[in-house]
Amino acid sequence: MAGKVYYARVGKTDTIPSVSSKLRTLIEKSAVLSPIKKGDFTAIKLHFGEEGNTGHIKHEWVKEAAKCVGMITDNSFLADSNVIYKASRRTNAIDHLKIASEHGFRFSSIGVPVLIADGLRGRNFIEVPVNGKHFKKIKMASDFANADSMLVLTHVTGHILTGVGGALKNIAMGCSSRRGKYEQHCGTVPEINPEHCVACGQCVAVCPAGCLKISGKKISIDEKSCLGCGECAVVCKTRAIEIRWSETLENLQEKMVEYAKGVAGAFGSRIGYINFLIRVTKDCDCLAKDDPDIVNDLGILASNDPVAIDKASIDLILAAAKKDVFAEGHPETDWSKQLKYASSLGLGNMKYELEEVPE
Ligand code: SF4
Ligand code: SF4
Repeated sequence: MAGKVYYARVGKTDTIPSVSSKLRTLIEKSAVLSPIKKGDFTAIKLHFGEEGNTGHIKHEWVKEAAKCVGMITDNSFLADSNVIYKASRRTNAIDHLKIASEHGFRFSSIGVPVLIADGLRGRNFIEVPVNGKHFKKIKMASDFANADSMLVLTHVTGHILTGVGGALKNIAMGCSSRRGKYEQHCGTVPEINPEHCVACGQCVAVCPAGCLKISGKKISIDEKSCLGCGECAVVCKTRAIEIRWSETLENLQEKMVEYAKGVAGAFGSRIGYINFLIRVTKDCDCLAKDDPDIVNDLGILASNDPVAIDKASIDLILAAAKKDVFAEGHPETDWSKQLKYASSLGLGNMKYELEEVPE
């Protein structure tokens, strides 16, 4: 059966308040909040934007979505999880909450609390079964796993590794702990730079294989015993242990989709998705820059099917651009892989029915 996707157009003359009004109408006319029940702990998942990034979803629109969720439950919260790459202010909950607040995502402006779902250092996760080709279990950020339902707000963009970043990527990478992100990206022996080591011992304490040791105040690794779990790279603050970004782009998309399946499975069918096709850029909101748009603003989509909403989003963008802007931006990766693999795992439907919501 085709996935149902609702669409509210946004154009050049729209303002932040008029987009808020269209978002409210879209939410009311679609079934996107139907999975949320009275009293639920409902996570409103979004990317708060890297420092210097201007393309992320506006806090005014998130406030509107939170108000709509608030009509159903008093227990909603905004949430994201920590990242693994070092050039970021989102690698721990303290810095992450500060940048979120600077972008307007704070209780005083949105009206709901803000959480970093994998905790202070990004090490809080709950294992969730998925039984996939790459993973038997995923490492889901604890406070996403502990929630009853979720509304996923996604700024659709191009992506350096996956071609496109939509709802699937948002729940896969975005709802996993830092270790979960690490195992999607690599899962190999980390790179050791002993000259950066300050002999703090944190990596030795967390290594499950006991294969790290400090001698002469410098770190060394027994590569043969390493499990490739990435825990040491997550805790090292001095870049003495770094991730090898070694996963093939095809495998990365499959791994990401298995994570998305695990997250969706953890919620049952209790997730709604809203995609913003506004300020669509070549790269994602993790990049700290004012990236130019690659297509005119198109609007907002809502669905309960993550594959259908991503496919509809991509189709609208490519039709408006009159070319494959994602393949042009990232020719080394085939963005369609994630949709096909997600569809083959039963995560959603690449066929969809698009219904435009009247203004
Ligand atoms: S955590 Fe980093 S700095 Fe500390 S001992 Fe390990 S490698 Fe060295
Ligand atoms: S990747 Fe895991 S097993 Fe390997 S050294 Fe680091 S903590 Fe130990």
